[in-house]
Amino acid sequence: MKIAAFVPFDEESICYGLIDGENIREINDPFTGEEIKESGKVYKRADVILVNPSFPVKALCIGLNYRDHAEEFGLPVPESPVVFMKSENAIIGPEDYIIKPAMCRDLDYEAELAVVIKKECKNISEDEASDYILGYCCANDVTARDLQPKNGQWTIAKGFDTFLPLGPFISDEVDPSSLDIECRLNGRTVQKSNTRNLIFPVPYLVSYLSKCMTLHAGDVILTGTPSGTNHMNNGDVVEVEIEGLGVLRNTVEDEA
Ligand code: MG
Repeated sequence: MKIAAFVPFDEESICYGLIDGENIREINDPFTGEEIKESGKVYKRADVILVNPSFPVKALCIGLNYRDHAEEFGLPVPESPVVFMKSENAIIGPEDYIIKPAMCRDLDYEAELAVVIKKECKNISEDEASDYILGYCCANDVTARDLQPKNGQWTIAKGFDTFLPLGPFISDEVDPSSLDIECRLNGRTVQKSNTRNLIFPVPYLVSYLSKCMTLHAGDVILTGTPSGTNHMNNGDVVEVEIEGLGVLRNTVEDEA
């Protein structure tokens, strides 16, 4: 199933639904732990605005999880996952604007596969991980690259408002161990890889992180970006496309 969160044009509240061609079939909130059921209401995709498909308590992000990305920065391949967090202020949905902060000179894109947690878990094994995953979606780990080395930690460089586009929907129909992943800037391909190149694969990451902290329904795990990250500027259109997970498109705008 392909789960989207959306706001109908004539309403204000957020609804969930299953994408079915040009239609969206409304369902209950998929993060309550209850069985997913259809309400019977069907919307035309053209009559709704898709928003970020998850509203996590936390976004856990893995740095340097593609061998080629570590090499392009001249950094050693990590022996355990490099983890940082983004908070909900950073999250935006498909077609929303990424705001380039005034204090940032080099704003970078990072195309990433995001894992969306289905229900609360703690201390789970790699074999159990799939029971706790609702699905996968595209993410962009937007980064103020010039601020990253200045800060010691990555909280500022990774955590500005609008620095975590998610979407356009969550799917459980893909195999996360082998998905083509691509980033395009103004239509030109700038990153291209496959999730089989992940140093730490999805089941390992979910298990590892669950041994560090409780994962909650809706939490997302960003699995790292391949080589080719570079700068974005005012007016640029950035697209993250992952096999089976659609295209996450956002436009960059300078902070007013
Ligand atoms: Mg990243």
